[in-house]
Amino acid sequence: MLPVSAEDIDVAQTSIKEWRQDAPHAREEVASEAPAASEARQGSQVVLSFDVEEHYRIEAAAGLEISEAQKAYYGDRLEVSTRWILDQLDRHEIKATFFVVGELTRRHTKLIRTMARAGHEVASHSWEHRRLHSMTPEGFRDDLRKSKDALEQVTGQEVVGYRAPTFSIVRQTAWALDILAEEGFEYDSSIYPVWHDRYGVPGAPRGPFWAKGANGGILELPPATWRVLWNNVPVGGGGYFRLLPLWFMRRALKQVEKMCDPPVAMLYFHPWEFDPGQEQLPVGWMNRLRTYVGIDRSRERFKALLASCQFVRAMDAANALDSRREVLATFVAGQA
Ligand SMILES: [Zn+2]
Repeated sequence: MLPVSAEDIDVAQTSIKEWRQDAPHAREEVASEAPAASEARQGSQVVLSFDVEEHYRIEAAAGLEISEAQKAYYGDRLEVSTRWILDQLDRHEIKATFFVVGELTRRHTKLIRTMARAGHEVASHSWEHRRLHSMTPEGFRDDLRKSKDALEQVTGQEVVGYRAPTFSIVRQTAWALDILAEEGFEYDSSIYPVWHDRYGVPGAPRGPFWAKGANGGILELPPATWRVLWNNVPVGGGGYFRLLPLWFMRRALKQVEKMCDPPVAMLYFHPWEFDPGQEQLPVGWMNRLRTYVGIDRSRERFKALLASCQFVRAMDAANALDSRREVLATFVAGQA
């Protein structure tokens, strides 16, 4: 049984009211809402981020035999879809954060350099996209150093941000938080404050917080959620972005702005989500649904989102929070 508080009831009633108010007007592909920044609460920010990996590295494909030819194929697709994203960002003069798998520095050097030269932040998404569950703390430290060094050599810029593959910093892998700080990272964006079969730390704050480890910890920028009916719905990107109408995400952003202090929301996408023509991986029906739902309309939906909102890079949000560290909530992610 989930705990129910007066605040929960109030939030649920507000959300239901907002649902009713919004649903009849939800023409999601038309960017009709005023830019969020014009009505935004002081200091509110929306971070736009991308997890850059070839499609075959996704968790749903774990265990599949992928040939070298398939790897090369998905590498080529990654180039095209990432350049499409860069082009869209350029049109809207938006700077974003790209969490890049370190191993991509071997085949996609130019692409990563293009991101950095365009003013985007290049951050780490591990070396080869292995979840933390299968690593020891020392193995994680090596993986982290390898990806950070490789990305810094390619871009000539310091890597200060990290996102674990499949949001795999959970309660049992929270030892990673101190290691991130020790290795020179300034923020992490791996703790999803939701119930989910693959990831999540239910009960973690929805806004930026200090993720405390045994030796200090690190600033955490969690993916955006929508609080409704005593639960956090994970609407910050991925399948939720493709499955749910865009007004869900817009409502979530407004709710974060109202309810979270500091009011910072994190969105995340993957280049392969904008590639409807790619060869689909032979995954089971449930994974097929999760992976490919809505992929045909994701480009148009993404364009509408870019036109209706203002964004910052994660490092900008982290810098802005640096002077407000004392107001951040503290959360011990490793607690049972
Ligand atoms: Zn990933």
